[in-house]
Amino acid sequence: MPQSVIVLGGGIIGLSSAFEAARRGMRVTVIEPGVFGGQASGAAAGMLAPFSENTEQPDDFFQLCLRSLRSYPSWIAAVEELSGLQTEWIQSGSINVFMHEADVLPIHSRLHWQNEWGAEAQLIDAAQLRGLEPQLAASAVSGIFLPHESHVYAPKLVAALETACRRLGVVLLDHAGEIDDVVVHTGGGVTIRARSLESAIHADRLVVCAGAWAGAYERWFGLSIPIHPIRGQICSFEHHTNEINHMVFSSQAYWVGKKNNRLICGASEDVAGFETSVTERGIGRLIRSSNQLFPFLENKQTAHRWAGLRPATRDGQPLLGQLHSVPSVIIAAGHYRNGILLSPVTAAIVADLLEGKANDFNINAFSPSRFTL
Ligand SMILES: Cc1cc2nc3c(=O)[nH]c(=O)nc-3n(C[C@H](O)[C@H](O)[C@H](O)COP(=O)(O)OP(=O)(O)OC[C@H]3O[C@@H](n4cnc5c(N)ncnc54)[C@H](O)[C@@H]3O)c2cc1C
Repeated sequence: MPQSVIVLGGGIIGLSSAFEAARRGMRVTVIEPGVFGGQASGAAAGMLAPFSENTEQPDDFFQLCLRSLRSYPSWIAAVEELSGLQTEWIQSGSINVFMHEADVLPIHSRLHWQNEWGAEAQLIDAAQLRGLEPQLAASAVSGIFLPHESHVYAPKLVAALETACRRLGVVLLDHAGEIDDVVVHTGGGVTIRARSLESAIHADRLVVCAGAWAGAYERWFGLSIPIHPIRGQICSFEHHTNEINHMVFSSQAYWVGKKNNRLICGASEDVAGFETSVTERGIGRLIRSSNQLFPFLENKQTAHRWAGLRPATRDGQPLLGQLHSVPSVIIAAGHYRNGILLSPVTAAIVADLLEGKANDFNINAFSPSRFTL
């Protein structure tokens, strides 16, 4: 009998882990209190940008991000083939834009180490900037061009993963309501009870992928899970698809054009508990940054405004691994700003742990017990 697995949480991390485990022959059930992809994963801009997101050093986290970017081609091919759905993965490259010459001075050491890791990053001047993005404001003085960064339409990737999981025979239980009880049996196996499920669900192993809500599991596993929600407010404008061709990052915001004629501009970072409303202040900042960097957006109304809750840990890095105290339980949560990027590598690590296989990537830095004294 193949191993049975319960995945708790149906965001991109839970669905990706379920997909990979099912592809490797395991019997998987995903329990989602609400809607699949209804939280951070459905709100994300979908940028796959390990170099733009990690500017300081090639630490373990950067290496995890880079490995995940590199697994995207085969990952997307598998998800699209099994689901029959498109995810709008676009290998656009990205530009980090600088408004002051002084900002460029510390860039050389970043370029040096990132190019050692295969970024093929180029420092570009004002003329080259406008050659790549003609709509940029004249005040942009230089930039870094990163040809290998890309983006995906996050809600479509989530939908494709859900369909692919279903086709692989994964049992998908949404609207399950609050998780009422988690029992880890001493003889092996776990039992989950959820408010709206008629009966308890049993399996050999448990994978907790509850995003910003993962802290709720502290009481069942007796370890500290310091994950808290950081709200990201984000908006979009109508645009023509060729108006902005690359992902563009400034010190204030980022912009990414989607195939549906929407230019996404994100994202604020604020602490508002589990509140997912948008505020005039949060969106206003994004509009001002947009007008400053892309004058053609001046006087344009936003087409859509929304927010999501990034799952943040105290050190900004995910909790990823098996619990020493309860080895039948794996935690994969706290992916903060990079959960879409990190979904393929997380799924591979989770599936390796389920199979008891040594992963060739050292995940000690992400140990779920690192905050437990
Ligand atoms: C505005 C914004 C923009 C972003 N842009 C990007 C980007 O461009 N690139 C990128 O890589 N990342 C981006 N992110 C981050 C990314 O969205 C997250 O890191 C990622 O979605 C986390 O996935 P997740 O599955 O862990 O969490 P979620 O998608 O939040 O899923 C967690 C699920 O757990 C469920 N749940 C709730 N309570 C429980 C419980 N008790 N037990 C079990 N399940 C529970 C929730 O209903 C939810 O569906 C962005 C985030 C935001 C908010």
